[in-house]
Amino acid sequence: MSTLILGGGVTGLAAAWHLHRKGESVEVWEADGAVGGWMKTLPWEGGHFETGPQGVLWQKGTAVDRLFSAIDLPFRSPGTGARWVGKGGRLISVPASPVGLMTSPLMPLGAKLRMMLEPFQPVRPAEPEEGLSAFVARRLGKGVATELLPAMVAGVLAAPPEILSVDAIPKLRQWESTGSLVNGIRKGGVSHMVVPEGGMGQLPLRLAERLPAVRTGLRAERLEALPGGRWRATGGGEVREADRVVLALPAFEAAALLGSVAPQSADALASIPYTSVDLWHSRHAPLPALKDSFGFLIHPPEGRGYLGSLVPSWMDPQSAPEGVMQLRSFIGGAFGKPADLETWEGVFARLKHWIPVLGDPSATRHERAERAIPRPELGHRARVKAALEGLPAGVDWLSNARFGPGVRDILEGLEVWIG
Ligand SMILES: Cc1cc2nc3c(=O)[nH]c(=O)nc-3n(C[C@H](O)[C@H](O)[C@H](O)COP(=O)(O)OP(=O)(O)OC[C@H]3O[C@@H](n4cnc5c(N)ncnc54)[C@H](O)[C@@H]3O)c2cc1C
Repeated sequence: MSTLILGGGVTGLAAAWHLHRKGESVEVWEADGAVGGWMKTLPWEGGHFETGPQGVLWQKGTAVDRLFSAIDLPFRSPGTGARWVGKGGRLISVPASPVGLMTSPLMPLGAKLRMMLEPFQPVRPAEPEEGLSAFVARRLGKGVATELLPAMVAGVLAAPPEILSVDAIPKLRQWESTGSLVNGIRKGGVSHMVVPEGGMGQLPLRLAERLPAVRTGLRAERLEALPGGRWRATGGGEVREADRVVLALPAFEAAALLGSVAPQSADALASIPYTSVDLWHSRHAPLPALKDSFGFLIHPPEGRGYLGSLVPSWMDPQSAPEGVMQLRSFIGGAFGKPADLETWEGVFARLKHWIPVLGDPSATRHERAERAIPRPELGHRARVKAALEGLPAGVDWLSNARFGPGVRDILEGLEVWIG
């Protein structure tokens, strides 16, 4: 069986790696000049910055652990780290334990008491698909859904939970299916954020090194069915025929290729929305309060387009020179970007609002992540189902819009896919 994989992001490369390991013939085409898609670590003045993921959730004995071990990818965990939510004009620590949450000013007492009743809530069938806010309100109470969830979701999907499907965070339904979220989390165990040595970009580079045929700078432009169930891809003056073609692409890119061969799939994929986000990287003198901190997220109504900031120099000390604190601030997403956040001065003013002692930056840089994050709005399940059911034999679509937003979701989804 020969397979041509279109898309050399982490999804395409990890899928190719699984197939190659099974002894299949596989080739990857990547449109960009380098592999990795959003997962790239780029050099920056004595350190580096990430274009996409800052870390990956790792746990012993899981798909992430198995892949990292199999490709000998060294990584480190920074530890738990303090997390904060910006609310009521100040940063409030997010307690690591349920007991801590009971005494935290993050939510009113009634909301905390209701949250404790989660294990006693009945399990609902998976169908019909539920909204993310409705799911969290049903299991944990309206207080959690309105006071805590919006900031958490903004930090992952840059979108308000009211418009999203519960499928936006697949772990939630998986946990509920064990009886309760508490039970699911207890059974599943706790994951830790880890970063490969040298940054996240090392993961796709290491995968590509282990594959026989990865072509960069080659964009697939056309897909055609051949007699005998084979497929032909054309692009950049190259033509390749294969038994199977895997589109490891964002839904809108896959839709463009499928228009003439699978119109139902193309329409369903084209209807999956994507979110763009602005990222500002900045370097400052270190602050004791953020020394061992993951970062903070802002309750969206108060953030007004400023979603929060991470501390990459804590997660990955190689990202900044010794004695320098690196921040990465997230702007816009589905919340929109007010005019004051178009410039660094505006972003810095917002940062200073939440951390008044933050000093002027020694360096800044702006990156625009255009249509970077799938937005699984309510109805996502039907869109994905229609897309997959409409695919002809010998064509498949793999993506974070199918498996879930994080690298962990993708790697777990691929293990199921490969069987
Ligand atoms: C700003 C940001 C922060 C994130 N933070 C985290 C995090 O901290 N932790 C986490 O787990 N996840 C995080 N994620 C999510 C994670 O990065 C993505 O889920 C993952 O990288 C998606 O990989 P992919 O291969 O599916 O897609 P992509 O990375 O989009 O790769 C698709 C590839 O296909 C190529 N391509 C497109 N069209 C064609 C064509 N016609 N022919 C050939 N190639 C084509 C593209 O050039 C691209 O390289 C973040 C994402 C973003 C954007």
